[in-house]
Amino acid sequence: MNILFASSEVAPFAKTGGLADVCGALPAEMTRLGHNVAVVMPLYRQVKSSGCSLEPLNLKFDIPMGNKIVRGRLLRGSLPGTSVPVFFVEQDDYFDRDELYRHKGEDYKDNCERFVFFSRAVLESIRMLKLAVDVVHCHDWQTGMIPALLQIEYAHAQGYENVASLLTIHNLAYQGLFSHWDMLVTGLDWKYFNMHQMEFYGKLNLLKTGLIFADGISTVSRKYAEEIQTPEMGCGLEGVLQKRADVLEGIVNGVDYYVWNPVTDQYLDHKYDARSWQQGKAANKAALQAELGLPQLPHTPLLGLIGRLADQKGWNLVAEVMGRWVRETDAQWVILGTGEPHYHDLLGHFSREAPHKVAAQLQFDERLAHRIEAASDMFLMPSQYEPCGLNQLYSLRYGTVPVVRSVGGLADTVVPATDENLSRGAATGFTFDAYSTEALETALSSAVATYHHRKDIWQKLVETGMAQDWSWQRSAEKYGEVYKRVHQRHAEARAKLLAGK
Ligand code: ADP
Repeated sequence: MNILFASSEVAPFAKTGGLADVCGALPAEMTRLGHNVAVVMPLYRQVKSSGCSLEPLNLKFDIPMGNKIVRGRLLRGSLPGTSVPVFFVEQDDYFDRDELYRHKGEDYKDNCERFVFFSRAVLESIRMLKLAVDVVHCHDWQTGMIPALLQIEYAHAQGYENVASLLTIHNLAYQGLFSHWDMLVTGLDWKYFNMHQMEFYGKLNLLKTGLIFADGISTVSRKYAEEIQTPEMGCGLEGVLQKRADVLEGIVNGVDYYVWNPVTDQYLDHKYDARSWQQGKAANKAALQAELGLPQLPHTPLLGLIGRLADQKGWNLVAEVMGRWVRETDAQWVILGTGEPHYHDLLGHFSREAPHKVAAQLQFDERLAHRIEAASDMFLMPSQYEPCGLNQLYSLRYGTVPVVRSVGGLADTVVPATDENLSRGAATGFTFDAYSTEALETALSSAVATYHHRKDIWQKLVETGMAQDWSWQRSAEKYGEVYKRVHQRHAEARAKLLAGK
């Protein structure tokens, strides 16, 4: 099939989270399965400074944005190491900025305008580039306008009749919520600003807009697809999602094993595989301890955490447990992340108080992320909610035993070390259910006790995890099926429309 990816983040060009990893890897995998894929993303400053090759296409276009006309231009590149074309939407006023969505912790005031422009540019690029498209695969609120524009403005436009849309939710908590006056920049009639379509309690909601108009919806794990239909985890959109449950599916993200593989990882001093993990991990642990100024203690458990320092990731639990553990146990903590200022302060405090136990790197550092995955004995993800989560999948492949809360993608991918799971050789980690410090501490204590005293079980957990296949290929096959269904659904809806039903 012909698939056009529309995404605000694509690794390695521009990334703030898992969305970029998905959009950097899935297109190539779809191509390997025989699909014809192209990607469109904004030309951020980060893309220009990434050193990737950018070919100007001499394709300029004008888009009405409220009461002005905004000019854009398309450039062409490709996903590194592949022939998958990436079309970059150039509009320097919108995209040539320090960061993708915010500055100094404040969202850009014109985020709605920026991504409405991007969404319209995606649709215009189909015409300009004469792309054959069966499905536009949209991602998150930034592209939520695309399904609406396809159904409203482009429904009868030549060349767009058979273009279906799939919207993937990577994180329901980020909805693209804007003032009602931003309806003016969408260019759509106010009649769509109602609670059944684009309005959300008096505001314009771009994710909801996408969910209402898309031919299909997916999210990044089966469990999260269920969870988001409940009031506890639906972020106010549970009603919309319940109504659209028949077109909602969950597909766990894959891992790019070209990038995340301890056998070939360019960032590791000591590469290793499932046979050499004991020596390999020990050597990487010693190297990381030395690099971060921790004592090189081979038998002390090293706990890794990587990611946004946000409540979503369970940081309020970690903060409390860490405080106690740093005082009472010998465990070492390696943390890599950026996020909410009070967690920066807290981690700064812990690393000053206990520099021999806590190494907190409060920055974004790809190299260090790989080195931490390889060096740690266990990896902690006590998330409040987790649509999919990638780090636990990396951990599995790196022989780093995940300790996770059993939600969303974490529940779908980590098999708890119960007696039953252990005896059938399926267990890969430690899990807990309640969102509480007690539950986290119980799981963590049990992991540490197993690490120290049940080396046979530990070895089994590591080796079962390392043998798992969370490659993109298995997810891509599922997406292939979803694309087919979405396209079919679009064709049927269109036939009905034309028949005047
Ligand atoms: P999110 O909710 O942030 O998308 P995921 O676990 O799905 O969480 O994906 C996060 C991705 O970003 C992973 O590839 C992770 O390694 C990476 N990451 C997050 N924070 C950092 C950081 N400070 N340095 C390097 N990589 C990071």
